[in-house]
Amino acid sequence: MEKDVIIIGGGPSGLSTALHLTKIAPHLTNRILILEKEHYPRLKLCAGGLVADAEVILQRLGLDVREVPHVDASAAHFDFAGKGLKISVPGSHTIRVIRRNEFDHWLAKKAVNRGIEIKEDITVKKIIPDENGVTVETDQGNFRAQIVVGADGSNGITRRCVLPNSPVYTARVLEVITPNHPHRLAARDTSPKFSESGGGREGAYFDFFPVPDNIAGYTWDFPTQINGQPMRCWGIYDTNLLSDQNRPPLKKPLAEEMARHGFSLDDYELKGHPIRWYDPFNPVSVPRVLLVGDAVGADPIFGEGISMALGYGAVAAREISESIQRNEFSFSGYKRRLVRSALGQTLFARWLITQIIYPLKWRWFQILLWRILKPIVILVAWIFVLNWGKRIKI
Ligand SMILES: Cc1cc2nc3c(=O)[nH]c(=O)nc-3n(C[C@H](O)[C@H](O)[C@H](O)COP(=O)(O)OP(=O)(O)OC[C@H]3O[C@@H](n4cnc5c(N)ncnc54)[C@H](O)[C@@H]3O)c2cc1C
Repeated sequence: MEKDVIIIGGGPSGLSTALHLTKIAPHLTNRILILEKEHYPRLKLCAGGLVADAEVILQRLGLDVREVPHVDASAAHFDFAGKGLKISVPGSHTIRVIRRNEFDHWLAKKAVNRGIEIKEDITVKKIIPDENGVTVETDQGNFRAQIVVGADGSNGITRRCVLPNSPVYTARVLEVITPNHPHRLAARDTSPKFSESGGGREGAYFDFFPVPDNIAGYTWDFPTQINGQPMRCWGIYDTNLLSDQNRPPLKKPLAEEMARHGFSLDDYELKGHPIRWYDPFNPVSVPRVLLVGDAVGADPIFGEGISMALGYGAVAAREISESIQRNEFSFSGYKRRLVRSALGQTLFARWLITQIIYPLKWRWFQILLWRILKPIVILVAWIFVLNWGKRIKI
């Protein structure tokens, strides 16, 4: 089968690329094919925290994420050992938490409703670009395309085929889902986090206490829901920036944090998945093949990647539609376009911030950052980390 654009992976970055392409170049709609190895609704390990930028991009595509089951976190708390700064938006939620099986399925249905073809249960094995196009080898035969988009996530085959020697920066991530309240002693029922739980609007908590122990990241604790039941999603993120130093096993600080709130990690299923994070020096395309989403890299500070994935789709769609107009597929300008976009600017700022806040791992610095320099941290976050979604060109 010959298509103009084959997108490998039907997660947020692949679906966003297709949705943006149909918006800016509607005549291409039936020339796009998404190949997805799973079947929707498929599981994806992810805490599902959506920041406002994700919602802004979806709104500009005419999509309302409130159609997806969600829990609103009224505030985001950035702590060191239980104390720190709080960000909230008066009269609104700060982070909206979805489950990825539901969110991705919803987004895929929107794409199909707009005429985009998605083939599920098909695994791409190899990508071979040549002068005239790209051959995509799958477990169900070969496909040909003018252009291939690698939207296949942190471990994707596309990058491994077309950029086999590019460096890999991956974070270690563990996640656990628990009921809203601990089975045992309600040690935490009186804590501020749980005093909010009745109304269904709860806080999202990030705690950077593992950094002095050379875990260059944080633990999280989000409200979530599964089949309408209030639950909590816990996890730990480590950029691996301090991997040359002695570190405790990754689950240890997570177990400590959960125990502080009356939960025993051993009572629940622990799952892990790496996140590739963005490095500005990494290549993002070869002739006829470009990468989006985690295949390029998520935000290094938090491993936040859903809004980024949606943003990558907007940038890539513009690059693809112009390259088809020019009939020129080198993608030599894709990196420049990405770096200059609002997405590229926030990714660069986040990469820079990551190189400061984690290697300066000392307890006193972390206390200074999260507890004392609050107004400065909030200002930097406001300017460089947040509010990029509305500046992205669609
Ligand atoms: C534990 C954890 C918690 C996280 N929490 C958050 C959070 O709270 N908020 C946030 O913003 N981000 C979070 N992230 C990051 C977020 O999940 C990713 O950044 C995001 O999913 C990237 O989207 P993507 O479309 O690029 O890739 P993915 O969502 O990984 O999608 C890739 C798709 O490609 C398909 N695929 C892969 N290989 C092939 C193949 N060979 N053939 C065909 N299809 C293929 C996969 O099945 C998948 O559907 C978290 C990540 C982890 C691991």
